[in-house]
Amino acid sequence: MAVVGVLALQGSYNEHMAALRRIGAKGVEVRKAEQLGAIDSLIIPGGESTTMAKLANYHNLFPALREFVGAGKPVWGTCAGLIFLANKAVGQKSGGQELVGGLDCTVHRNFFGSQLQSFETELSVPMLAEKEGGSNICRGVFIRAPAILEVGPDVEVLADCPVPAGRPSITISAEGAEDEVYSKDRVIVAVRQGNILATAFHPELTSDSRWHRLFLDMDKDSQAKAFSALSLSTSS
Ligand code: GLN
Repeated sequence: MAVVGVLALQGSYNEHMAALRRIGAKGVEVRKAEQLGAIDSLIIPGGESTTMAKLANYHNLFPALREFVGAGKPVWGTCAGLIFLANKAVGQKSGGQELVGGLDCTVHRNFFGSQLQSFETELSVPMLAEKEGGSNICRGVFIRAPAILEVGPDVEVLADCPVPAGRPSITISAEGAEDEVYSKDRVIVAVRQGNILATAFHPELTSDSRWHRLFLDMDKDSQAKAFSALSLSTSS
């Protein structure tokens, strides 16, 4: 059975572990670089990305995490995990924050505001209905949530949502030099780029297991690819 690692430095890793148990998947908590060699895929949970980055630095995890993502292993970032995976982060205190990168997008760390502006909303996610049949609607739990402002050409947008009225103005430049009001009326909150899945919200805080199953399927696909590459190279 595929082993799903859950980065367990800080944040909602217990909830991801519980969600994996609910669908009968094997999850392991990951805190050290050498543990990455023993897992097939990795979830980077939500929490507080600057704190998580400090802990990841302390454990010298960034090079191993970049190698894991670069190797094409499935990785899912939720909320702070999405920020970790972005190639570029803007917004409060984003300057100097170390990122794993790999996901070709610009993320705003606190797009939806502070804890007080946390909210829940229904999201339309056609891919969930395509995969499992049934409804394309899922509950999005947004807690001090980031949002994706821009994506590169290889990034598939899975969900967006309306920009709440009265959202505070935001810093667009990474240096924090320039304040601009985000002018679009919808913003991206879930994407996929190859082996990377990223959501600005927290499926692990709901009883809806479809996102975890979707991620597990990415894991199965990547193992099937690795197996056929292996059998090709041993048969030639
Ligand atoms: N905005 C938070 C950060 O910068 C992320 C919030 C979350 O993961 N719930 O890390």
